[in-house]
Amino acid sequence: MIGERGKSVLVYVNGQLMPKEEASVSVYDSGFLYGDAVFEGIRAYNGKIFKLDEHIERLFDSAHVLQIKIGMSKDEVKRAILMTVRENKLMDAHIKPIVSRGRKAKTGLNPKFCQYGPTFVIIAEPKEPTLSREGVRVIVSSYRRNPPECLDAKVKCCNYINNLLARLEAIRAGVDDAMMLDTRGFVAEMCATNVFIAKRDRIYTPYPHSCLNGITRLTIMDLARQHGIEVQERDISLSEVYTASECFATGTAAEVAPVIEVNGRTIGDGKPGPTTSELIEKFRELVSREGTAVYEQAAGI
Ligand code: PMP
Repeated sequence: MIGERGKSVLVYVNGQLMPKEEASVSVYDSGFLYGDAVFEGIRAYNGKIFKLDEHIERLFDSAHVLQIKIGMSKDEVKRAILMTVRENKLMDAHIKPIVSRGRKAKTGLNPKFCQYGPTFVIIAEPKEPTLSREGVRVIVSSYRRNPPECLDAKVKCCNYINNLLARLEAIRAGVDDAMMLDTRGFVAEMCATNVFIAKRDRIYTPYPHSCLNGITRLTIMDLARQHGIEVQERDISLSEVYTASECFATGTAAEVAPVIEVNGRTIGDGKPGPTTSELIEKFRELVSREGTAVYEQAAGI
């Protein structure tokens, strides 16, 4: 893929930038062998990285749960991310840092076999929003989102098979995405986004129990409150989704996307609703204004 500098995208691998075609990690990497890794999805808008500190914080939290030692300070990670975006001359980008427990001396689950330190990769590329602003059609997956007693959805680790199986169902059904329920039958989230519904001037979103506590989710909750829209976290059943006036999904890669159909049933009047449209506008305005400057910091790095 050609980046904005007119050359191949440069990928950061353990401190070095290398062309995308050459960037690789070992087949003995614990991330490849066991999904033993954590990651983040971050966006830069107009030369500024949105909520960079929050994403780095979550990356460290996820690594801490898995007892992966990143081997870099939060500031060093921040500098590596800024450098990767800058060297690719990107203004708008999706940035994906991935940290695995590292290469193993031999196969086997034992983390002691990871004798060479963690593997740290940063991919920064241009990326369109992954869900349509025009409205998204979804099914409800037969796969339930992991409850915290199995694999806590708050940990952003490289075990996305649960969500991927749901996405495969969506593809088979010919729709854009899948809504996943928790093991009690309440709405959890979508494959890579959080879910909101709007009803009578309020918006509701599931407790972050069986879903990632999305940074976009928290941003939208703040924005709504600032603009006089009441927000409530609570259990949401599917019938409440069917009878909502609006439904939308939030996530870094997807941004804010109206959900207009669930399981073949039209939500509201089947078009992006006024609350969703207002929040999309406020979100766009916020991300264009707020963030860590990529280029102004260059001198200090
Ligand atoms: N849920 C899942 C499963 C995700 O992968 C993501 C994307 N990171 C989200 C929700 C949204 O989180 P955020 O707004 O922090 O990107």
